[in-house]
Amino acid sequence: MPTYAELDVTPIINANATLTRLGGSLMPPEVLKAMMEAAKVFVELPELQRRVGNRIALLTQNEACYVSSGAAGGIVVAIAACVTGNDMAAIERLPDLTGLKDEVIVHKSQRNGYDHAVRQVGVKLVEIGYPAVTEVWQLEGAINEKTAAVIWFHGALGGPGDISLEKVIDISHAHGVPVLVDAAAQLPPVENLWKFTQMGADAAIFSGGKDLRGPQSSGLVLGKQWLIDACARNGPPNHSIGRPMKVGKEEMLGLLAAVERYLALDHEGRASQMDEIVTGWCNELSKLDGVRAERSFPNEAGQPLPRAQVHFDAAVVGRSRGEIVQGLLDGRPAVSVAPGPDDSIFLNPTTLEEGEEEVVLARLVEEVRG
Ligand SMILES: *Cc1c(COP(=O)(O)O)cnc(C)c1O
Repeated sequence: MPTYAELDVTPIINANATLTRLGGSLMPPEVLKAMMEAAKVFVELPELQRRVGNRIALLTQNEACYVSSGAAGGIVVAIAACVTGNDMAAIERLPDLTGLKDEVIVHKSQRNGYDHAVRQVGVKLVEIGYPAVTEVWQLEGAINEKTAAVIWFHGALGGPGDISLEKVIDISHAHGVPVLVDAAAQLPPVENLWKFTQMGADAAIFSGGKDLRGPQSSGLVLGKQWLIDACARNGPPNHSIGRPMKVGKEEMLGLLAAVERYLALDHEGRASQMDEIVTGWCNELSKLDGVRAERSFPNEAGQPLPRAQVHFDAAVVGRSRGEIVQGLLDGRPAVSVAPGPDDSIFLNPTTLEEGEEEVVLARLVEEVRG
C-alpha cells in the first residue's frame, strides 16, 4: 500500500489553520466509514446528489442543498446558476455570456483570491465602495439589468465600513438580484449553517473540508430551491461549466456524515477544551526568556475559537520569528504555525489531534532554546 512515508512525503502537525495547502482538516472515522461504504457500490449520481442534498437541507434548516467540489467550486456553480437560472441553452453556452446577465457586484473591501471562482464563469466583478467605507447608494447605483448577483465574503475578509449583510440583502432583493454568501471558513458557530439563509441570502457556501472535517474536495451550497436546482444543472455529471468540478459518491456520503457529526458535536465543550490548551501553552511559554504568550480571540477567519499569540524578543531569543517558523517546519516532527503581526506567531489548537498540543509545545520550546 502506498504511504506518505514510502513516498518520502513529510507528515506535518498542523497548529496553523484549516489550510487547503496542508490538506484542510483530518476526517474522523465516521466520515471515512461513509466514504468507504459509498465506494463499494454503483449508484445514479444525480439521484444521490438529490437525496443527500435533501437530507442536508433538512438537517441544516435550509430549503435546499447542493454538494459541490469545495467552497470555490460551489461559488462557480452558484454564480453560474444566478446567470443562467434553469435555461438549458444558456447553461450549455457558458462561459459565453452573450445576451445574459454578466455582472456580479462585490465590496471593494472584500476582494480576495477566492473571487477568481466568481470570475471563472466569465462575469465581470463590479466593485463598490472603498476599503474603509461603502455606502448604500453605491450598491444601488451599481445594480442594473446586467446584474446577475451580489457576492458577499463573510468574516475577516470584509472592511470595517461595509454595508451590513441585512441591508445588502434588502436592497438587492428589492431589485430582484440574488445574494450569495461565501461562508467557506465560517464554522463554528454551527448556527451559521442556517443563519445567512434565514437572513434572506439566496445561498450560503461552506467548505466541507475545513472545520466540518468532511472530504477536502467537498463543499455545501445551502439555499433557495430554484438556485440549488440551477446549481445541479450547472454541475457534474451534466455537460456544463461545473463538469470539471466533479463530486464523487464518496464525497457526497462523506460530507453528509460530516454534517451529521458536526450538528451533534458538543461545541461548548470543544471550545473550553481549546481554551485549556491555549492557557496551558501560554503558561509554559511565558516561562521562557524573551517570550511572551497570550490568548488571541477570535481566530484568523473570525471564528469564536482561541489561539495563542506568541511574541519573541529576537535580541533575547537570538532567533528571528521567521527562523523559528522555518525551524518548526524543518524539524521533526514538522510543525506548521501561522506568522502573526509584530514578529509574533499564532498557535492554533483546533486542527490538532489529541495529545499533539504537547508535541507542539515541546517543539517550540526546543526552537526557542536553539
Ligand atoms: C477556504 C476558502 C474558500 C475555498 O474553499 P474550498 O473548500 O477549499 O474550495 C473560499 N472562500 C473562502 C473565504 C475560504 O476561506
